Amino acid sequence: MKRIALVTGGSRGIGLGIAQALLKEDFEVAICGMRPTCDLKEFFYCQCDVADPEARKRMMEAVRQRFGGLHVLVNNAGIGPKVRADVLEATEESFEHLIRTNLQGPYFLTQSAARWMIEQKKADTAWHGCIVNISSVSAMVASTNRGDYCISKAGVSMATQVWAARLGEFDLPVYEVRPGIIKTDMTAGVTEKYDKMIANGLNVQARWGQPEDIGKAVASLARGDFPYSTGQVLMVDGGMTVRRL
Ligand code: NDP
Repeated sequence: MKRIALVTGGSRGIGLGIAQALLKEDFEVAICGMRPTCDLKEFFYCQCDVADPEARKRMMEAVRQRFGGLHVLVNNAGIGPKVRADVLEATEESFEHLIRTNLQGPYFLTQSAARWMIEQKKADTAWHGCIVNISSVSAMVASTNRGDYCISKAGVSMATQVWAARLGEFDLPVYEVRPGIIKTDMTAGVTEKYDKMIANGLNVQARWGQPEDIGKAVASLARGDFPYSTGQVLMVDGGMTVRRL
């Protein structure tokens, strides 16, 4: 029987890169997004705003109905602030929206997936799976024009450690993948800025990251190549955060 993966925000960008990489690994893949329907027929699609507890519940139920099991949860769906506002000006509304979507959603989706995964593991000792959180270099690199985003991603980083610690007794690894600057709709509005920064040596590897770069990293975790590395961070940032002198 094929293993099952759920990738939130799999309809485009990094999530799609991950979903496609998991298909290549022979997973059955469920994805979700905000749009009502999705044309990508190779995936099982659920409309789900991860910030909405009821929608999360409906999605988990739909995956249960369709596949009867879940081996890998990839918490990828995430948003930037609508406006990149200086922290001296930015609103509570934006802060709340980002925390609910980028942190609270994945945190509680992890809770419900973990409960289900524990059940499956108890029923079959050969069962293995994992949870992967997509954070960002913003978890550790401060941007004063999107403090809300940075804080939500730093939270995802701690959530990874908390869940890794809790799920250790079930041998259920939880990982964090931390992308750098990746070419997607999210970064489309700042293409010129990042083109210049990359040309000026921002990264060690002088190119944009692609969704496939993240897909490959997540596929290796989902395949089970790092069974003894729970709680760890996998940087996929072209060396952006390598300190240089
Ligand atoms: P995109 O904006 O390109 O794609 C976002 C995806 O998430 C879409 O599939 C969208 O669905 C879905 N989505 C948005 N909001 C929600 C929601 N509330 N509930 C469910 N699904 C939602 O983003 P990226 O691919 O660039 O980013 C993916 C993740 O990677 C995010 O967590 C982001 O923070 C992180 N990241 C991105 C970086 C980058 O440079 N691009 C760098 C570091 C981290 P729909 O198509 O229906 O709108």
